[in-house]
Amino acid sequence: MHILTIASEAHPYSKTGGLGDMVGDLSRHLSKIGHDVRVVLPYYRCTKEKNLDIEIQTDDLRVNSGEKTVQCRILKYLEPSSSVRFFFVENDAYFDRPELYNENNVDYPDNAERFIFFCNAAMQLAKSFDFDVDIIHSHDWQAGLVPALFKAGVHLPKQLSKAKTVFTIHNLGYQGNYPMSYFKMTGLPPSYASTQGIEFYSNISLIKSGIVFSDMLTTVSQKYALEIQSPEFGFGFDGLIREKRNKLIGILNGIDENLWNPLSDPFISCHFGADSIETKAICKSNLQRKINFPQDPKTPLVGGISRIAYQKGHDMIARVLPGILSSDIHMVVLGTGDPEIERQFHEISRHYNNFKFINAFDEPLSHQIIAASDIFIVPSRYEPCGLTQMFALKYGTMPVVHATGGLDDTIKNIDPITEKGNGFKFSPFSEIEFTSALFRAIALFDKDKNLWKKIIVNGMDENHSWEYRVMHYHNLYRSLARQETKKITG
Ligand code: ADP
Repeated sequence: MHILTIASEAHPYSKTGGLGDMVGDLSRHLSKIGHDVRVVLPYYRCTKEKNLDIEIQTDDLRVNSGEKTVQCRILKYLEPSSSVRFFFVENDAYFDRPELYNENNVDYPDNAERFIFFCNAAMQLAKSFDFDVDIIHSHDWQAGLVPALFKAGVHLPKQLSKAKTVFTIHNLGYQGNYPMSYFKMTGLPPSYASTQGIEFYSNISLIKSGIVFSDMLTTVSQKYALEIQSPEFGFGFDGLIREKRNKLIGILNGIDENLWNPLSDPFISCHFGADSIETKAICKSNLQRKINFPQDPKTPLVGGISRIAYQKGHDMIARVLPGILSSDIHMVVLGTGDPEIERQFHEISRHYNNFKFINAFDEPLSHQIIAASDIFIVPSRYEPCGLTQMFALKYGTMPVVHATGGLDDTIKNIDPITEKGNGFKFSPFSEIEFTSALFRAIALFDKDKNLWKKIIVNGMDENHSWEYRVMHYHNLYRSLARQETKKITG
């Protein structure tokens, strides 16, 4: 099938979180099973700096954006290792910036304009295709406008006219809501500026366009697909999502085992698998040395990696840390984000020499922390899928997670009798529940090495790879395409 993917990130060309991992990994795995996959991305500064061997696909694409016409170039890159074709929308005024969406935690003021333009450009570039696209798959609010543009037929290239649309919600907390004055830039007919269209509490909402106008709506775990139908996790959209639930499915993200594999990971100092788990101790010792902790194998090393955000429970971690750090543990947190929580973490690390806060986005270090840690914490208030707990499982690192979204779908509590399970899960979200789950993990690490080993090997033996999860998308695309065929023949 011909699949056109439209997103604001794909690893390794651009990434701020799990969206970038998922778009890159899914595209490569779809290509591997025989699909023709074309991915449209903005040409950011970080992408330029990769110095890819690109070709110019279209030198002068003119995109209507409200009253003005915006010019851009379309650059094409055929990824040699995967055969996925990447199309980069180049407009330096919009995308040649230090970051993707914000600087110093402040959003770029023209984000609405940037991504409305991007969606329109992504649809227009299909004019140069010499085939019909079967599926247009767009992701999150930044590409949310695509299904409405498609439904309204706004300047629709004929190559797209037979396509079906899929929209994936990676995080409903980010909605792309902007003042109604931006509506005219979208190019949509005036009827779309209504509650049946993309209007949301007198604003426009780019994620609403994806929810309402896609043929199929997906999110990144089964539990999250249920949670977003409730007021607590629906962020104002739960009613609409309940209305659309017949077209909603949850598909767990996978992990890319070419990148995340303790047997071959190029970022870690020594390699190990379930049969050679003892070697993990060398990774631990090397990281302890690197971050100035004593090289002590007996002290449990607790790791955490993510955006520093209220969603991720970091405010709660900061509150309980002084109590936790009085025990004999080492803890390392890697991340960037909320300035107030970052300040608190810096402050705590000045008082406790068994706590390190590394305030950076550092891919190699993220691999080293996952490989070296004994315990990995993901106490998110909500977590649509979460990838780091699956990386932790693969690297024999015990997850301690809040039972929400994809964390609940992937982590099973330990049963000491049957020796089944793969981690520690707490609920409800609270300081007490989190602390007690963490201390249960520490107690098991200290007191029962056999059960500890059994449980981490359970996790290492699980299959969370895209190799098989890709088939859910393959089947979804096929069934959508068949609906089309039925309509034509019936
Ligand atoms: P989210 O998409 O909500 O940020 P996920 O767990 O789905 O969370 O994905 C986060 C991705 O970003 C993972 O690949 C994780 O390793 C990576 N990541 C997050 N923070 C950092 C950081 N500071 N340095 C390196 N990688 C990071």
